[in-house]
Amino acid sequence: MPEHKISILIPCYNEEPVIRETYVRVKGVLDANGYNSREIIFIDDGSKDGTPGILEQIAAQDKGVKVISFSRNFGHQAAVSSGIKNCSGDIAVIIDADLQDPPELIPEMIKKHDEEKCNVVYGVRTSRKGEGFFKKFTAKFFYRILNSLSEVRLPLDTGDFRLIDRKVIEEFKNLREKNKYIRGLISWVGFKQAPIYYQRDLRAAGRTKYPFRRMVKFAGTGIFYFTKKPLQLAMGMGFASIILSFCLVAYVFLSDFRRTSGWASTLVIIIFFGGIQLLTVGILGSYIGSIFDEVKGRPEYIIEKKVNF
Ligand code: UDP
Ligand code: MG
Repeated sequence: MPEHKISILIPCYNEEPVIRETYVRVKGVLDANGYNSREIIFIDDGSKDGTPGILEQIAAQDKGVKVISFSRNFGHQAAVSSGIKNCSGDIAVIIDADLQDPPELIPEMIKKHDEEKCNVVYGVRTSRKGEGFFKKFTAKFFYRILNSLSEVRLPLDTGDFRLIDRKVIEEFKNLREKNKYIRGLISWVGFKQAPIYYQRDLRAAGRTKYPFRRMVKFAGTGIFYFTKKPLQLAMGMGFASIILSFCLVAYVFLSDFRRTSGWASTLVIIIFFGGIQLLTVGILGSYIGSIFDEVKGRPEYIIEKKVNF
């Protein structure tokens, strides 16, 4: 087996109850498999609890642990992105801090990378333990919709838990967008990609950092950055309404005028077309909002401090 330098990238936001256990488990897996050439990078995404203090202690004891601290909370995707840009391994593995993605899978991912000579090994969740019906249902639905709309094929039921090699890391660094939907971007980059199947565990401790509002925003980035189909849908609805209105005009002229009078039917039509128009404006607005975010050209995140780099 070839010798690799491995970077483990762990974004954390308020993960005080679990972060030490995560470190111990990840380190244990790397030690047990003889991966001595390595770095574990924690990206502290502006945590307000004891996470920064714990990371500082770990980094003081173990020089193989590096910490990137953001100046405030910039979000999960920004944290992962900074990890990818700052790592030095020829292989990097992105893993959540809450142990929902088992670190024990890392050696299997590396093996798959070596044997099948692939550049990306992505984790596919066959089941998700302990997550509510609503989260599971919306996630399943969302990945299927996005995949059917997107111009690139995006694997289903796949998060950011994955291995990427140096080729992909270097290409990733060239991606200019500020709002990143990383799981999609890595598919977009291409090269050889292979799945590995696993069961998603319960969060080891603490609460999810993706409340409904954030889930919707994240899904929006996926949709508005990976497909223009909603715009085509808006145009399609416009055409359909025009055709429908021609039919109605014909109906009015051909039928008995008395039967077609009445405010109820008028109201229904006004509400219906008002709805279509607002939806269309909303779709347009979402794309314009994304353009606005991007043209401002602000950085994706601000790093306050780096330790052990
Ligand atoms: N996370 C982050 N910044 C945020 C939100 C989340 O770095 O603003 C990290 C979090 O600490 C965890 C990972 O992103 O390591 C995934 O978050 P979480 O487990 O809460 O999401 P879920 O698994 O519930 O979808
Ligand atoms: Mg989680």
